[in-house]
Amino acid sequence: ARGIDILRNPKLNKGQAFTLEERQLMGIHGLIPPALITQDQQMKRVMTNFKNRPTDVDRYIYLMALADRNERLFYRCLVEHTEEMMPIVYTPTVGKACQEYGVIYRKPRGLFLSINDAGHLYEMICNWPELDVKAVVATDGERILGLGDLGAYGMGIPVGKLALYTALGGIPPEETLPIMLDVGTNNEKLQQDPLYIGLRRPRVTGQQYDDFIDEFMDAVKRRYGQDTLIQFEDFGNHNAFRFLEKYRDKFCMFNDDIQGTASVAAAGVFASLRITNTRLRDNTFLFQGAGEANLGIASLLALAMQAEGATEEEAISKMWLVDSRGLLVKNRPKGGITGHKEVFVKDHPPVDSLAEAVHAVKPTALIGAAAVPGAFTEEIIRDMASFNERPIIFALSNPTSMSECTAEQAYTLTEGRCVFASGSPFNAVQYGGKTFYPGQGNNAYIFPGVALAAISCGVRHIPESIFLKSAQTLASLVTEEDLAQGRVYPPLRYVRECSVKIASSIAEHVYEEDMAAYYPEPENKEEFIRDYLYSTDYECFVPETWHWPEQ
Ligand code: NAP
Ligand code: MN
Repeated sequence: ARGIDILRNPKLNKGQAFTLEERQLMGIHGLIPPALITQDQQMKRVMTNFKNRPTDVDRYIYLMALADRNERLFYRCLVEHTEEMMPIVYTPTVGKACQEYGVIYRKPRGLFLSINDAGHLYEMICNWPELDVKAVVATDGERILGLGDLGAYGMGIPVGKLALYTALGGIPPEETLPIMLDVGTNNEKLQQDPLYIGLRRPRVTGQQYDDFIDEFMDAVKRRYGQDTLIQFEDFGNHNAFRFLEKYRDKFCMFNDDIQGTASVAAAGVFASLRITNTRLRDNTFLFQGAGEANLGIASLLALAMQAEGATEEEAISKMWLVDSRGLLVKNRPKGGITGHKEVFVKDHPPVDSLAEAVHAVKPTALIGAAAVPGAFTEEIIRDMASFNERPIIFALSNPTSMSECTAEQAYTLTEGRCVFASGSPFNAVQYGGKTFYPGQGNNAYIFPGVALAAISCGVRHIPESIFLKSAQTLASLVTEEDLAQGRVYPPLRYVRECSVKIASSIAEHVYEEDMAAYYPEPENKEEFIRDYLYSTDYECFVPETWHWPEQ
């Protein structure tokens, strides 16, 4: 490529970091200001700009524009300033960005496959310029975070998740592909939004929709191979479980809203047990919400209890769930118990509200993921503190505006005794002369490591045991010091290291279980994983030269 093309290519561009020699050799001298600076200095410039932006959405726009100019610099910043930037690139700000996607739209990112293109998805995937994609994140935008149907505006989510695949999982960006499966939207506001970027039509459902998803799966496999990881993201509840079941043994796929959430929440619970000083099976869980998140969590915790020696029946009996019609109990007059909820239905008189359910069940752990803001009322939190010395309270609904309670409410209303974690970040809380650092049960602790292991080891399918392994590994990385500060997760700045450890332990597991296709089996798994990681260092454009011997 000509020098100017390199300058304009975000994968190759290094701005003022091009050396004098490179500038001269590539014919771009004079096209960049004369000052020669390093990536470190460029990062300082980025941070100054980042801090100066008036709002978080402005920061999001700024960072995405940076990714479009200089990809390695973008990732370097994301890697080194994860705690500040992750809430921008991912939840909660990405949710806001999705809601305003039509206005903030500058440049397309990812691949848009619409229902109008059914029958041609393979050809369209072939339009993607990268030859060796290893990880796809796809959404149909029906349930974006806790925000509902955002249609094609939901593209911000696969884009953001894959940025974390790279920043936290070290997966090279050219190996990742975000896909929007646009089958319409039932969000009337969007249908009337003049800047809407997707198809203005109600969602296609039924056989036509299923055929479209089938075609998509086959097209990805045909273009990039059987071992391409396909992560389902933010699909509606009624499709998420179905597709997981339908595809999990045929493709290398998982659903992060169900399985990634389950794993990160279970890790938080495992770490909490070191504070409550109990075995998992000594605990009783009450879940607010019986959707993708909580059914996933309840199932994985039940699996973990069985690994601890409990019978399936005993394990299930410890999981109580409340949905929009009350506690899941047999012959509930309000009905509504379908599919995956059935396993957890209890023999118990009907209970309508969460407050009553807390009284009836007296759980040791209360886990919220129903996107009902403020669902953990003062009364409920005080109750939890009245029958538990150290109540476990996880308010997982995203984004922050949907949270069941704030960290401050949880700590103050339990006199600093609760073990708290949330889905979206909360600042540290001062109470009783102590500082509490709420853990953020962010899926980003799990999915990058799972993806890294799946891709590097060539895992064909992703069984539940991988998510249990991930949860156990993550919990083992929580130090005594973390626990003393109230953290049930390692600080976010270590999340990259967590990914490597999780991926290494999964690698051990998949070779033991004969589930890895990559041969020969690497002797040192962690070294093998580390060798795979993307580097944010700039490439050198001066070709190597050498001399021949005199004779
Ligand atoms: P979902 O599949 O749509 O499930 C929502 C559940 O909440 C359903 O079971 C629904 O009941 C229930 N619900 C709705 N209103 C309720 C009410 N008033 N009282 C009790 N239950 C009610 O959604 P999801 O994927 O599970 O996600 C739920 C929330 O969790 C979202 O805010 C999401 O952002 C968050 N989440 C957090 C994390 C994380 O922190 N790591 C990960 C994933 C998801 P019905 O079944 O009766 O409709
Ligand atoms: Mn999600």
